[in-house]
Amino acid sequence: MFDPTGQIAGLTARIAALEAERELTLRLAQTDSLTGLVNRGAFTATLCERLERARAVGRSVALYVIDLDHFKHLNDTLGHHAGDLFLAEIGERLRSDADPLELAARLGGDEFALISDGFDISRRAQRLLSRLAAPHQIYGRTVSPGASVGIAVFPGDAGDAGELQRCADMALYRAKILGGRRWSAFDAELRSESQRRATLEDELRRAIPSGEIEPWFQPVVDSTDSRIIGVEVLARWRHPEHGLLPPAAFVPMAEELGLIGRVDEAVFHTACAHAAPWVAEGLIDQVSCNVSPRDLLDPAFSRKLIGRLARTELPATALTVEITETFLLQDLALSRRHIERLNAKGVWVALDDFGIGYSNLRALMHLPIQTVKLDRSLIADVARDGRVAKLVTSMLHAARALGVRIVAEGVEDEAQALFLRAAGCDRMQGYWFARPMPAAEMEAMLRARTAQAGAAQTNPAEAPRHRAQG
Ligand code: C2E
Ligand code: CA
Ligand code: CA
Repeated sequence: MFDPTGQIAGLTARIAALEAERELTLRLAQTDSLTGLVNRGAFTATLCERLERARAVGRSVALYVIDLDHFKHLNDTLGHHAGDLFLAEIGERLRSDADPLELAARLGGDEFALISDGFDISRRAQRLLSRLAAPHQIYGRTVSPGASVGIAVFPGDAGDAGELQRCADMALYRAKILGGRRWSAFDAELRSESQRRATLEDELRRAIPSGEIEPWFQPVVDSTDSRIIGVEVLARWRHPEHGLLPPAAFVPMAEELGLIGRVDEAVFHTACAHAAPWVAEGLIDQVSCNVSPRDLLDPAFSRKLIGRLARTELPATALTVEITETFLLQDLALSRRHIERLNAKGVWVALDDFGIGYSNLRALMHLPIQTVKLDRSLIADVARDGRVAKLVTSMLHAARALGVRIVAEGVEDEAQALFLRAAGCDRMQGYWFARPMPAAEMEAMLRARTAQAGAAQTNPAEAPRHRAQG
């Protein structure tokens, strides 16, 4: 029998169940499972909504971004499980500390956020810091890593959610570099810094196609007779207003903006055009180029580089690619593939900044690397500090045992050069021999040296042991 009421009741129950399920799914999708706080996605949506509402009624909204200090250390020493417990505790503290109209969220990792009103931010920030710094017991150990907080206020500092987050992040960054365990609010100083940066970003985008980024060259010498046998290519930005800028002023920014590949390509192309004739004439036999560590994560990196090289006149066997260990061990198989592909073409690979990283030795043992470049921080102390001298000597032994060539960088005085020569270091580079210089100067120096060597060779008593061919 058809029973209309029963059917309707059944239907209502089913709809209610579906509704509940939908709500649960929605809540789970918005929740960070470790802390139970809202996650980044839900946080961003809520921030946009709150800004809209605040705009309509003319109110202010403050965004607090929170980053734990030394969380990585806690994770490394006590383990990931302890790290998780601690994050859950921080989540609980933020939730219980939040006023009814505030919203606490976990943005990811050890980064949290709080949306609040824009009143009395210094008092609110202080309360936040003291809540977060309170000690906590994990596995019987007392931990209190503390936190840094960056604050930005709508609409004074920023007019939309994305901008507000950027402003708060800048303030957080300042709190961090000032030592952590403090809060910092976006202000006029950060505003002018962010404007300067935005301008510099625009200029960098234009600088690449317009050829303002140019290669400079620093000689690499043979330790036995100080003869120049190679050059390292170092990028410089000839900025129309600020003058000549070193890589530190634009390489990190180019990496962040995803422009480093184009910077490297431009530098590489021009450097090869200058240096290929030097190699062809036998003035030098190696040209070393730096690549961004991030490049190694790109599966097409080695193929692209080989393609670029083929479009120049430089023979593959004259090229050394300098890489740092940053991402080398992250994907060992991929790194190996890149290095083997380059090696197969005759390109050498050098491990840069050797001796300062954690995993330098692992990289050296597991990857087919031809050269290591001893970091200049080691060289600086080599003639002063007996322990460093012993360390460098043993590194030279280890490299030699592995059949790897060694270049010492940052050789600044004669004492260092003499020590390294006596210790059997193959090649050296540094201000003691020559500073980086533009292509024309480099070429003039190479020609002058070769002419000198040629003249010396006419006198058999002074004949050098090696001489550039050509
Ligand atoms: P790096 O590869 O370790 O380059 C050596 C740095 O040491 C250069 O700094 C060089 O000028 C400097 N140097 C050389 N001899 C001495 C010395 O005797 N004493 C001291 N104190 N310093 C010395 P620079 O040119 O400022 O380059 C800094 C870093 O920027 C480079 O470090 C390299 O990692 C990166 N870089 C340079 N050019 C490029 C490029 O075209 N692409 C990429 N991705 N990175 C580059
Ligand atoms: Ca280098
Ligand atoms: Ca280096």
